[in-house]
Formats: sequence, C-alpha cells, structure tokens
Amino acid sequence: MEQVARSIKDACNGHIHLAIVTHEHWDHVSGFSEHQARAVFDEIQIDQVWYAWTEDPSPRNKLGNKLRHEREAKVRTLRQAAIALNGMASPLAVDRAQRINTLLSFFGFDSSEDIAKDLSANAEESIGKTRSAFDYLSKRSGVSVRYCRPTDDPVMLAGGNVRAYVLGPPEDEDLIKRSAPSKAGREVYEVSSELFMDQQLETAFERLSGTVANDRENCPFETAFQIDIASSTLMSPELLALKTATWDQEPWRQIDSDWTAIAESLALNLDQHTNNTCLVIAFELVATGQVLLFAADAQVGNWLSWQDVKWTLKSDPTMREQEISGPDLLARTVFYKVGHHGSHNATLRAAGLEQMTSKDLIAFVPVDKSQAEKNRWHEMPFEPLMNRLREKTAGRVVRSDATVEPDLANDLSDTEKRKFLERLYRSQVENAPYWEIQIP
Ligand SMILES: [Zn+2]
Repeated sequence: MEQVARSIKDACNGHIHLAIVTHEHWDHVSGFSEHQARAVFDEIQIDQVWYAWTEDPSPRNKLGNKLRHEREAKVRTLRQAAIALNGMASPLAVDRAQRINTLLSFFGFDSSEDIAKDLSANAEESIGKTRSAFDYLSKRSGVSVRYCRPTDDPVMLAGGNVRAYVLGPPEDEDLIKRSAPSKAGREVYEVSSELFMDQQLETAFERLSGTVANDRENCPFETAFQIDIASSTLMSPELLALKTATWDQEPWRQIDSDWTAIAESLALNLDQHTNNTCLVIAFELVATGQVLLFAADAQVGNWLSWQDVKWTLKSDPTMREQEISGPDLLARTVFYKVGHHGSHNATLRAAGLEQMTSKDLIAFVPVDKSQAEKNRWHEMPFEPLMNRLREKTAGRVVRSDATVEPDLANDLSDTEKRKFLERLYRSQVENAPYWEIQIP
C-alpha cells in the first residue's frame, strides 16, 4: 500500500485537489490507516474530501446518524457472535464464525486466515481501525469536507472542464437497506425480517451466556424428546457409535448450532447495507458530454434510485435551462468502473448496464480473483456479468488483476482496436501494478 501511495504522490506531483471516500469499508480506506500508508498521504497536499451524506455527523442528519449507530452496534454484536461461535464444539459453528469474520474484515478485522490471532485482539480497537482510516481526511487540518447528496447541484471541477453529479446514496432508508436482488415489494419484508433477526440474536446470546434459566424451554421439541449433547455420550454403545459415525461423515446433521445462522445473515446484511451507503459520482466531460461512472460498491437500492434523480443546469445565462437525469448519464457513460469488484448484485441489468448504450463504453473491473477465492467468494467476478460487459464493450474490459491486455472483439475495426490499445497503459510499479486509460 505504501508503494501505491508513493505512486499516487508522484503521479499528482504531491497535490490532490479532491479525494472521494466512498464508504466505511476497510478495502476502500485502508491506505489512510497509520498501519499502512498514512505517513505517505501526510506528505501529499489534499485540498478537499467528499463523503456521502450518510457520514455527516450534524445532529440534523437524523437518518445518517441512525444508520451509522446501527452499523457500529451490529459490528460489535457480530464480533461477539463470532467469538462465541468459534468457541463452540461444532465444526459448523466454527465455519460460520470464519465466514462472519470475513465479512467483519471490511470493518478492520484481520482476514479469516488470522482468526486465532484476531479473536484475541480487542474488538473496540479493530472497529476503531477502519473508522480512523475513514475519518483521516475529515479530521486532517486544511482539508475542506463536503457531504454529498443527490439533490445537490452538480459541481464544476478542473477549471470548468468537468461536471460532477452525485447519483447516490439515496436519502431513503428502505432503498439503502434494499441490497439483495429481489421481487417487487421484497424490501419491506427484508427490513422487518431484520428486526426479527436482531431479536433472535439477542435470545441466542442469552443462551450462550447462560442467562436463560431453562434453555430446554426454548427448544422446538418437547422435553421428553430432548437429549443434550453432554448426556448423549451416556447413550448405549450402539447408539453412540451410530451417532458418532453420522456426525463425522455428515456434520450438517448437527442442528444444535443451527440457530447461529441468524448471525451470518445479519453479517451479510450489515455488509451490504454499508455498501449501499456508497457515494456514487458521475463525472461529465463538459466538452464532449462523455461520462465516467464510479459506482463504488453500491448495491440494488442505490442503483435503483438513480432512475429518479434529476438536475437542472443553469450555468450559462445565454443557454436554455437543461434538465439532466440519471438515465441520461448512464446513456452517455464511456467509462464504467464496475461495481463491487464485479459481484452479481452490484451492477443492475435493466436499470443499469443495459442503459449504458454508448458504443465507446469501456469497463474497468477492480478485482483480485485470488483474494476473492481466499474469502470463498467463488463467483467474484460474476461470469454472466463479465460476459455481458465484454459484449457491451466489444471486449474493452480491463481487470485489475490481469497482466495482459484484454481480448478485443472483432466488432471493433483495426483502427478502433489500435486507438484503444494506445490509450491503455499498465504501470510497472513493483507489487502494485495498475491499469490506466486515457479518455479522449
Ligand atoms: Zn469493496
């Protein structure tokens, strides 16, 4: 990360006019951590930082404050859950603890590989680690802070050559909590079921901590049909042999830790809701009308809201007022930084990629397949999405983990192919290579 930061410092001659911090996830802010490259960023002059409105600490920002407090409380609860699960005898519970830890790693916990070490670490400290990296620029003196809302007027940048539109996050709790692709009306179900999950997790903790006087009463079976795990070892040798054989070969048959599934669902929701607070910016090159779209890790609800956003441009008094909508910007997108590392749920089809109809469309996919595999996200990047991206861009899809230029489709003429390849550049920064494209 230090190398990355040094490369940024060189590329911008030690001066960044505007930094955009999209959301509070470790993989998007870790460079600002004192454990990584803060010292290098300290040497760079940074004029301005943009955050999403959700992060504005002003007491007037009721919804944003509520979402942030929920996030903090859930991280703490899930942390406890992961520690408890890891201490359980069932291999399923331990497995689940690992998956929760992977999700929690976005809040600054170390990766699932370091679980043993990580579990002994102080949870408060880890939560603080992401938060402190996330807040680095808002707290740094001399940096002006803007909290962006989709209702803001577009902002002119780069001496009037670029116009920046805030597409998301939507100022709507239901949309922010709508993360999974779902049938119409499903978001209502999702929000209410989550409340239910919170309560269930609470009961689960009472069971774990032994504050429930008679756990057997909460069991779905009559007491006469219950044998707890400890007393099951006193069963007849035949039954015991049968039980052990089944358990060893088919561990999924152990349902004693099944209630812990709730913790994993909550962890997944927490992760996706945080992704939905992503600040999404469309940059319009004023001279050509071309749009560069940076969707960060925005999920379904954030994308859906872009369909309804509108701005009125009243820049030049000699010009007529011009209305710009979210779909207009999608139609003019020539550079799409693919959402959420190419996952299945962060590039909408009808209200998204299919509306990007420019024949010049180029897609960059920020993904590291080997890291995704380590996290057991075998579908990242999602192949059906990658296929459609290749079709829409005539092969101009560049993956950050690729070491060679992409295969261009024959829909492109030789001149078009040459033009694209001339503008594409791969840096030689050792251990931290990156791709760069020049948009005409
Ligand atoms: Zn991410």
